[in-house]
Amino acid sequence: MSNAVTPSAAASRPSVKPPLWLLAELTYACPLQCPYCSNPMEIAAIKQELDTSHWFRVMQQARRMGATQLGFSGGEPLIRRDLEQLIAEARRLGYYTNLITSGVGMDEQRIKAFKEAGLDHIQVSFQASSEELNNFIAGTDAFEHKMHMARLVKQYGYPMVLCFVLHRKNEHQIREILDLAVALEADYVELATTQYYGWAFHNREQLLPTREQLVNAEKVAKEYQDKMKGRMKIYYVIPDYYEIRPKRCMDGWGSVFLTIAPDGTALPCHAARQLPGLSFPNVRDHDIDWIWSESPAFNRFRGLDWMKEPCRSCPEKEKDLGGCRCQAYMLTGDAANADPVCDKSPHHHVVTERIEHVNRLAGTREFEAKPLVFRNMKNSRKIAGSSVLSNARETAESE
Ligand code: SF4
Ligand code: SF4
Repeated sequence: MSNAVTPSAAASRPSVKPPLWLLAELTYACPLQCPYCSNPMEIAAIKQELDTSHWFRVMQQARRMGATQLGFSGGEPLIRRDLEQLIAEARRLGYYTNLITSGVGMDEQRIKAFKEAGLDHIQVSFQASSEELNNFIAGTDAFEHKMHMARLVKQYGYPMVLCFVLHRKNEHQIREILDLAVALEADYVELATTQYYGWAFHNREQLLPTREQLVNAEKVAKEYQDKMKGRMKIYYVIPDYYEIRPKRCMDGWGSVFLTIAPDGTALPCHAARQLPGLSFPNVRDHDIDWIWSESPAFNRFRGLDWMKEPCRSCPEKEKDLGGCRCQAYMLTGDAANADPVCDKSPHHHVVTERIEHVNRLAGTREFEAKPLVFRNMKNSRKIAGSSVLSNARETAESE
């Protein structure tokens, strides 16, 4: 380690607030193959996972800086056989812990062990409300097992948190999805909008919902929010491709969230690795305090000074901070541009044209027959071999 853990780095930049959320992406391995996965497409090339002692050190350093929330994700975090140890250490350090999982790789013994280790929260994701569609999107027969695990999670006294990632292939099931959540007695349901990074960006044409689907989804979500008030919380957000203002991404670059990728790369958000010209530091070489407070990558888009027009002179810049840097890069080729979701952006047409294209062709046999590219190591090797980054740039240029 080149930097000892001292409070000096943070102290020298009093304007930089410490991270509150630590997202530990423990592995990119996953038994599922979701085509909407936001993991990088080059997963097959990212090796050398951090070991248990590395993760202990990361958790200790982030906690010392003030982080209080810890998410274990991946890939599929259950693949890590040391997960119970990591949870126990997180509990000892005083984190509130959340396991974000597909449920595949879980059994009753492990749920019990997680409870004993002090895990606070388990979020189980589903791909659809029906077995057939769920298993098709997951690329494996997982539905029955997920149902069983979701019931056990409830039985062991965890808050029941279900996550459904919505897109054109499952959005028509919105009512059945919410009925399933009611049947499983969920306390929280996240109707997560697909974020078009990583594999989802590659499959964007097959996944973007139609306007009609969104109108229906919003109506049904509202109906269930009213019906289940006080019993089940339902989160639903309109996909930003259909908005005219971008979201305040990650609550600001290097403001709240710190992601550590499986190989130890530290990122301000899980998709940022694709951004060119930024050398993201690794926890094997630097301590978290330096990474967060001093590293050039974490300071690159902090505050407002980096902004170009039209954001620089925009009265709304403190509200949305110019939107998502990854989306700006993927759709315009420059991460410092305004997020083109914004209708003030000169690149806004790349979003509207994409939406119009999908709405015009969705439902036609030829368009829907285009196969999804499933997230697996074979496809990763094939696609990443032809360079994912130049792929993104080419896409932006051809828009
Ligand atoms: S989105 Fe699907 S493929 Fe990606 S990590 Fe989660 S469960 Fe695995
Ligand atoms: S121009 Fe920039 S700051 Fe203004 S609303 Fe659009 S994205 Fe936000």
